[in-house]
This record gives sequence, structure tokens and C-alpha cells, in this order.
Amino acid sequence: MMVKGKLLKLLILGAPGSGKGTISARIVKKYNVVHISSGDKLREHIEKQSALGKEVKKYLNEGALVPDEVMIKFMSEELKKVSNSTWLLDGFPRTISQAEALWKIQPVDVVLNLVVPFEVIIDRISKRWVHLSSGRVYNLDFNKPKIHGKDDVTGEDLVQRPDDKPEAVRKRLEIYETITKPVISFYKKKDILKDFHGSTSDEIWPKVVAHLDTLF
Ligand code: AMP
Repeated sequence: MMVKGKLLKLLILGAPGSGKGTISARIVKKYNVVHISSGDKLREHIEKQSALGKEVKKYLNEGALVPDEVMIKFMSEELKKVSNSTWLLDGFPRTISQAEALWKIQPVDVVLNLVVPFEVIIDRISKRWVHLSSGRVYNLDFNKPKIHGKDDVTGEDLVQRPDDKPEAVRKRLEIYETITKPVISFYKKKDILKDFHGSTSDEIWPKVVAHLDTLF
């Protein structure tokens, strides 16, 4: 999609479990943009046991960050592939060095920052189950599978992502506070970041639409 002759580059930020995945999926559908999720891409590599997959597996399982050097190299390559599209980047950058590297490769135009209270997030993640091969996500409170523990479409088992287990969640939120928060300031200073507050994706979504409708 072109806006004033320019391909928009969007970025979505938010703590793990803030609903970034849900909001991103809705943006992709409504505005027809390419979704680039660093976490999904890394999980694909782990699944197919590539060299990169083997290298990063331990970090993902522990909820730790993959080293900047690895991430920057990997994401630079991925972004080259979609330089002619309007895209929505999700999960990258997560550190100041990643943000600086991205700014050199491809400055983003708009940053959407989801702000969800931590206690809501911890409760939500503990109830999140996924169907690994399709990426379908269920929530035991508000998006239950039809049969407990089974994917609606394939009937296969649902699992809890290793990094959704309580220890790993705590670690991911800590990392978010100390390492990723400065990324928010980085974009605030550039005056391209907008905050969206709420406890659920349904509460946040209309606010995101109102903002994006002014751009598309
Ligand atoms: P996500 O699905 O975005 O929560 O990412 C899952 C995991 O992938 C994170 O907990 C990290 O281990 C790793 N990861 C994803 N993106 C990055 C990044 N930009 N920098 C470092 N690690 C990342």
C-alpha cells in the first residue's frame, strides 16, 4: 500500500502477552500489510532444525534474548526480502542496538505501542495454549478450544510454549522492563510512537484502527 507515494513501514511494540500477535493479525487482515514476526521466524527455524534454529533454541526456551549480533544479521536479511512491501514488524527491535541498526537499514514510519498492565499479562499468558504447527492460539478464559487440550481444526494436541511457563514469563517481563523499555524512548524521541492502553485486544483494537485509518 502506498501512502503519498511511500511504502509505509510499521512497527508494533508491547510486552510479551500484551496482545501484539492478535493486534498484528488484525492489522494484516484489515490493511493488507506483510507481517514480520521475529519470534515466529525464529520458531520456524527451530522447527525445521536449521543451523540458526539450533543456535537460538536455548534462548527461546529460557525466555532470554537472542544475541543482538545474530538478530541484526538475521532480520536484515529478512527485511531485504520485503523491501518493496508495506510491512508490520513485530518482535524486533527489542534492544537499543537493534533499534539503531534497524534505523540505519530501514527507518520505520509509525510505531504502535501496546500498553497493558503486567498483572493482566501474567494471568493471560498462563492460560495461553497453542497449536504448534499452525500457530493457532487459544485462551482458556475467552477463546477456549472446542475440546479441552485439542486444536479445533486438526484435533491435534495443544501445548504451552516453553517460554509461556511461569519462570520464563517472569524473565521475559523483566527483560522487557530493563532492556526493551529504552526502545520505546528511542522512538518517542523521534516522535513517531503512539501508545494504546487497554486490558484486552478488543479494547485496544478500535483505537489502533482509528489511528491507522488516518494513515492508510
Ligand atoms: P516473541 O514471540 O516475539 O515473544 O519472541 C519469542 C522469543 O524469541 C523471545 O523470547 C526471544 O528469545 C526471541 N526473540 C524474538 N525476537 C527477538 C529479538 N528482537 N531479539 C532477541 N531475541 C528475540
